[in-house]
Amino acid sequence: MDDLLSGLNAAQREAVTATEGYVRVIAGAGSGKTRALARRFAYLVNEVGTLPGNILCVTFTNKSAAEMRQRIHALTGDEDTGYICTFHSFCVTVLQEDSHAVQYPRRFLVLDNSDIDAMLRIIYEERGLTLRAMTFSAARDMIELRKLKKEPQYYLDLITLSLETLQQKYLQAEAPDDIIFYGYLYQQKKCFGLDYNDLLKFTLYIFEQDADIRLKWQQRLEYIMVDEFQDIDEPQYTLMQVLCGYHHNLFVVGDPDQTIYTWRGANIRYLLDFDQVFPGTRTILMMENYRSTPQILSVANSLIARNTDRMEKSLLPTLPDGAPVRLHHARSAADEAAWMAAQMQALHDGGTPYRDMTVLYRAHYLTRTVEEVLQREKIPYTIYSGVQFFGRAEIKDALSYLRMIACQDDLSFLRIVNQPKRNIGERRRRLLQEQAAQEGCSLFTALRRSVGTEAFRGTGAARFVSLIDAFSSDCSGRSVSEVLSAILHESGYEAMLRTEGSQERLDNLAELKQSVYEYETTCGEECTLEHYLAHVALFTNADAGDSSDRVKLMTVHTAKGLEFPHVFLCAMNEGLFPSKKIRTLPAMEEERRLAFVAMTRAEQGLYLSEAAGRNFDGTDRYPSRFLLDIDPGLLEQSGERDDMLLDNARGYIAISERTLRGSADTAAFRPGQRVRHSILGTGTMLELDEAKQAWLIRFDGLPTPRRISFRARLTPCPEQ
Ligand code: ATP
Ligand code: MG
Repeated sequence: MDDLLSGLNAAQREAVTATEGYVRVIAGAGSGKTRALARRFAYLVNEVGTLPGNILCVTFTNKSAAEMRQRIHALTGDEDTGYICTFHSFCVTVLQEDSHAVQYPRRFLVLDNSDIDAMLRIIYEERGLTLRAMTFSAARDMIELRKLKKEPQYYLDLITLSLETLQQKYLQAEAPDDIIFYGYLYQQKKCFGLDYNDLLKFTLYIFEQDADIRLKWQQRLEYIMVDEFQDIDEPQYTLMQVLCGYHHNLFVVGDPDQTIYTWRGANIRYLLDFDQVFPGTRTILMMENYRSTPQILSVANSLIARNTDRMEKSLLPTLPDGAPVRLHHARSAADEAAWMAAQMQALHDGGTPYRDMTVLYRAHYLTRTVEEVLQREKIPYTIYSGVQFFGRAEIKDALSYLRMIACQDDLSFLRIVNQPKRNIGERRRRLLQEQAAQEGCSLFTALRRSVGTEAFRGTGAARFVSLIDAFSSDCSGRSVSEVLSAILHESGYEAMLRTEGSQERLDNLAELKQSVYEYETTCGEECTLEHYLAHVALFTNADAGDSSDRVKLMTVHTAKGLEFPHVFLCAMNEGLFPSKKIRTLPAMEEERRLAFVAMTRAEQGLYLSEAAGRNFDGTDRYPSRFLLDIDPGLLEQSGERDDMLLDNARGYIAISERTLRGSADTAAFRPGQRVRHSILGTGTMLELDEAKQAWLIRFDGLPTPRRISFRARLTPCPEQ
């Protein structure tokens, strides 16, 4: 017991030991929220005697879930670590157990973006659509929007309509949007695929429809804990509310200053109004920061204090003094990267391993110059991003082999049937597709029936079929990593890469095997092939192993909740960070929180940098307002500071801030309201156009309505 509570302050102890009822922790970055959450889990298991399988602990990323699982394992010594996962991952678990309630088989496929693209490719081909009409990424957005906003009941179609009916809807559709949408639902149903949105929707639907299943989960989850609660969105909130409906034990932790996902539907009100929704809520505050040096904290505090819409709080340091925070003004992006590389070399010469250095940036496209310099200076690095690792062709191929063994679905079939070459090209695949459509079977079954026919003479069809059949019928008793190694070998896939001399791809496969192995050893539950496949679609590159000594490169969003000894926050320029897409005051405040999240990841060293130069439109590039927000006395500055440029930057930022504030007032105007313009006089508001950042107003003295920019000064005028 002492062990569990040692190394915790009073507030953390309270959070750990207040096990019953509704508890909310509101605390700053690095104040030990996540640590308290992990200890609380262990306390419930070791001291209270709760079974791990009766606890749900929701983390924001798979990586933090894996870390938490390891910590819990170390603290409890128990193999069973319960439900420690993201919301999506939890839904996969529920669906694997109960998807029969919606007539979906347990062996459903979780679809990621590249699976969706593969389906779109089929639809575009069948219906003669071109990418000019709509790119795949636009099509994915359209589908998502339609599912969430326009047809929120879409999943009823997926559940209740037969495959034939969906196919008809697809074939009868005429507008491109409809063709794509119903084509996608049809493809989904065909392989029982579920995308990320479906996972939550289906789970909620089951709980809504089936009181027995709902009660089973409610009773099973005696304690529920949620990390990073400030970024929870509506479906997740609803799910959580349903789940705690029996035991009423809900523990949430969050930091209002770190809300960075409102653009994707997160709502901070869920954290702030928690006590009003859940009666008797106990609120615990934590102020001390255990992560960063006082120097880093002063800089971060000085930045976030600029936000107007916030609860005032400052992070109090507990660590001894460290190095000053550096800010470098570079003449160009190349210069900036060179400065970063030099700092890294100096750190490395002083004994800091590369893995302790992390470069953070606002958007992925900014990595190019950094990468160039790191390559030139021979500094090893890895990029962490959503697609990088698990999106690679060889990784998708390897996973498709596994899916072939488990599901024999068309999607995986098309991906690997001719990889390595089995002489089953375009023409033969088309034959199979026709046959499958006629006989209402899968492509793999069609191939099995075609083995020995004239059309498939001289192909590797027979060997392929017997290979998959052999693995499908007997992979019991073998771990997923063993199956993976065996199929990559026996299918000839690895041999193919070897003859091609693709060492990098082979290395990636080795990395995949390693990550499967790590997953198996930390997964807690019995890790079957189905189990692994259902979860792997949720993985991102950030979840792959990071044992090698390399500098890490990632976006600020990816870095959420993590900590690193030395952080390089680069490309701190107007138009980059803050991004030029920011149009409103709330969005700008969210952007500032994002910069705050970035800075508070650093433990010992924080390196800020920006580069002068030109924007695409030829205008001067200015340093970020977030740099100017910081009290200069807190920074050790280097490089060339151009005072005239700085003056211009201040002027530019002042105008921008005024525009933003103006647009904040726009919320005060409603269509139909009477307004006064300083030059054009009084008029009636017709419309607010957020996209154009303008109002449409019919002025009393003018014959036609006019568009007036949000930037103009407008006052409400009393009704007569
Ligand atoms: P974030 O808001 O960024 O998610 P957090 O509040 O979750 O931060 P943690 O990640 O739990 O903070 O803790 C930050 C660091 O401080 C970790 O390295 C943790 O081990 C350490 N830490 C937490 N509490 C204490 C404590 N009471 N004494 C010493 N170190 C602590
Ligand atoms: Mg945390």
